[in-house]
Amino acid sequence: MTINASGWRPERPEAGAAAAPTFTGNKALMLEEALIFEIGDTATTGVDFTGTPVEHATEMPARAYLAGLDRAAPIGLPGLSEPEAVRHYTRLSRQNYAIDLGLFPLGSCTMKHNPRLNEKMARLPGFADIHPLAPVDTVQGALEVIHQLAHWLVTLTGMHAIAMSPKAGAHGELCGVLAIRAALEARGEGHRKVILVPESAHGTNPATAAFAGYAVENIPATAEGRVDLAALTARLGPDVAGVMITNPNTCGLFERDMRAISDAVHAAGGLVYCDGANFNAIVGRVRPGDLGIDAMHINLHKTFSTPHGGGGPGSGPVVFSAALAPYAPLPFVEKTAEGFRLVEEETAEEHHAGSFGRMVAFQGQMGMFTRALTYILSHGADGLRQVAEDAVLNANYILRSLDGVLDAPFGATGPCMHEALFSDSNLAEGFSTIDVAKGLIDEGYHPMTMYFPLVVHGAMLIEPTETESKAALDEFIGALRSVAERAKAGDVALKSAPHFAPRSRLDETLAARKPVLVWKDPALAQAAE
Ligand SMILES: *Cc1c(COP(=O)(O)O)cnc(C)c1O
Repeated sequence: MTINASGWRPERPEAGAAAAPTFTGNKALMLEEALIFEIGDTATTGVDFTGTPVEHATEMPARAYLAGLDRAAPIGLPGLSEPEAVRHYTRLSRQNYAIDLGLFPLGSCTMKHNPRLNEKMARLPGFADIHPLAPVDTVQGALEVIHQLAHWLVTLTGMHAIAMSPKAGAHGELCGVLAIRAALEARGEGHRKVILVPESAHGTNPATAAFAGYAVENIPATAEGRVDLAALTARLGPDVAGVMITNPNTCGLFERDMRAISDAVHAAGGLVYCDGANFNAIVGRVRPGDLGIDAMHINLHKTFSTPHGGGGPGSGPVVFSAALAPYAPLPFVEKTAEGFRLVEEETAEEHHAGSFGRMVAFQGQMGMFTRALTYILSHGADGLRQVAEDAVLNANYILRSLDGVLDAPFGATGPCMHEALFSDSNLAEGFSTIDVAKGLIDEGYHPMTMYFPLVVHGAMLIEPTETESKAALDEFIGALRSVAERAKAGDVALKSAPHFAPRSRLDETLAARKPVLVWKDPALAQAAE
């Protein structure tokens, strides 16, 4: 990067195979963008100070607008005018892939649709501008939203009680496992210290169990990608607190033995946690409560259309069976004859005397509750069932359309649920999943989930979601087939893809091991020498 009197100029990016270098480094509408610290200069400001003493103005005419309040030496903060700041962030946003730009094949992420109606509702001042400490008689409408959403979630899952406050799936897992721990301790079985987790589990499951003080033991999968019921039953015993099972699982398959698993765990004195991250594949079709589950988190950002990841805060309400309900955390909203009440303290005479405590300071993610309820009400129960059916249909369309192109390790055993799983086993020697992923970037797609679940070599997990049209799926399938055929034919150009992205293939090991996270002002560094 060079900075000179006339401004900044990016170095020319290394020319990729098909990239024509330009003076600016830009490629048509794809603009190079320097770090914010490298743009403008420290004497620039978007602000004029008025009403400040002007006696310094004559001494420093160039900086008169700062009225002598300007710094004696730079401190390395960016100096940008308003349009420069706006352009910087707008340019950066254009280098990002987004659900509003195209299909997002990531698996284990479930739905990726954020209806605009949700945003409109969440911005209503009665929801957006309230405070968690406002007197409850002034926020009855907000409490009703929480209560209605809680009612929908409990009904859709066929469970008994709910904790709305956990702020993500992983946080919900912790909430569920803490309730399991409280229940075991209440019956004098705090010595049960093992939680069983399938090999294919999301990393948050073993992490949660360990964080709550449990030893984690793996349960193997069968050749068809499901929990090995015999192995699980054989391991049950007086030291096992419970199991954590994802259903549908991370291979995109429904755990058909779930009822038998729950019965076996209960018979052995344990409790059943279900990871409900993939609930969108079965919502309206299967009630986890009927499968003997004791606790399950629901990622509102995966099943009920609230923004995902950087797009907004998560929310992970947890539903409980009757056995675990007395240990659920506070607070919760209760409907009384006088209106909605926020139950915040455990009182001995009430049904929640055994509550294990709190997960968060306040009530949870109000904005997400409003969005999720909006989504639910705009679809209705039948609409939600169709969401699940369409998600499964779309995933199976992708799975079958790539028959004979990519290896589908469990493809032969029948249809998948909401996501299609492939392996790298039939690519050319020296080619792997990462090459397919990078090739997809050149085709204009965010890559699928890679190398997860761990039980499949070079896993590619693809979840199209229910909102994609057949035309969009066909285009994606065409792109993936083309890239896969190149990887099978050993096309060396694929090894250095992407060629059309702002940056070509990065050294991922170096980036992971020696990330450069701090920008050092070259001028300050020079001054320090
Ligand atoms: C996403 C996911 C989680 C974690 O949920 P967060 O909301 O990201 O914390 C747990 N398990 C599975 C299977 C998931 O897909």
